[in-house]
Amino acid sequence: MSRVPGSDRGGSRLRRVRDRLQDERLDGLLVSHLPNIRYLTGFTGSSALLLVEPGVATLFTDFRYEIQAREEIGPSVALAIISDGLFDELALRLSEEPPGRRIGFEPAAITVRDRQELGTRCGTVVWDAAGAPVEEMRSVKDPWELDRIEAAVGLAEHVLSDIVSEIHVGRTEIEIAAELEYRLRRAGSESLPFEPIVAFGPRSALPHARPGDRRLRAGDLLLLDFGARVDGYCSDLTRAMVARPAESWQRELHAAVDEACSRAIAAISAGVSASTVDASARDYLAELGLADRFGHSTGHGLGLEVHESPRVHRLEERPLAAGNVVTIEPGVYLPGRGGIRIEQDVVIEADGCRVLGESSTGLLEI
Ligand code: ZN
Ligand code: ZN
Repeated sequence: MSRVPGSDRGGSRLRRVRDRLQDERLDGLLVSHLPNIRYLTGFTGSSALLLVEPGVATLFTDFRYEIQAREEIGPSVALAIISDGLFDELALRLSEEPPGRRIGFEPAAITVRDRQELGTRCGTVVWDAAGAPVEEMRSVKDPWELDRIEAAVGLAEHVLSDIVSEIHVGRTEIEIAAELEYRLRRAGSESLPFEPIVAFGPRSALPHARPGDRRLRAGDLLLLDFGARVDGYCSDLTRAMVARPAESWQRELHAAVDEACSRAIAAISAGVSASTVDASARDYLAELGLADRFGHSTGHGLGLEVHESPRVHRLEERPLAAGNVVTIEPGVYLPGRGGIRIEQDVVIEADGCRVLGESSTGLLEI
């Protein structure tokens, strides 16, 4: 595995964390959420802690990742290969410092046991719940990150156009899911951001259906929700199809969801609250009497994680910012009949937004 050029932009992300430390009067930040560690250092292993202090940032990991870490992290990060537990080594490192230092930790990314461990092993440190400063930084993407996400959308769209020839009456959901997974990997997706959702007929009314042995029948709705990953960055698309012959209620339902999706996208701009965007989709579906069949939020942030900040939720009053990448994915689910969701990935811009990718959201009749 080699270091990805452009991923840390010469240590500027660490500099921004340090600015934050100064603002919060902290002597350090302990980063335990792995996507945050990847964002700040480039390290992609599955076991590590990162301690960011004013003068030094230290990545703690173990023997399994020594070669990889040396390849992935830049010169602005010191590497500590541990011989005991991560927290033993961290405690040792902190015991060299004067007592009474205030160090922030990520409350959403630490277990109760590990928090207790910090208290007992690093007793001279004052531990401070620091919120989610790195997630906040990550929510605004730079051009290099946008290129990655756009490439991941491109891969997913390529597979979407490719998979259609595989879908015909008699095939099972799990067969189509397997084809999707294989084609995504073969097209260059480094891993799958989540297990594809493939649901036929009435099962498409389960928003997060697991593919099973249901066979496609004539007249079924199909729901496909899947994504690709490029240099860690995810895409996440949903499309609806129908196995001919389509019925008028299916076309009408699809047109309603497509219009809700378009209205939400039209409402997006930097400075607009996420709740306003959510309402644009939700209010339209409510006018059609479908409010109670749209029970999830309109979208979520997308980046190194498939669900990250900001969320596009009806109670989220914070304004969207230029550089945020979110999904817009209204859906309507009719128990016993079927459901339709359409999901687009968009980047927020100063005076609007740009939809990533170019595939049609129209109802595909196959
Ligand atoms: Zn999705
Ligand atoms: Zn999604």
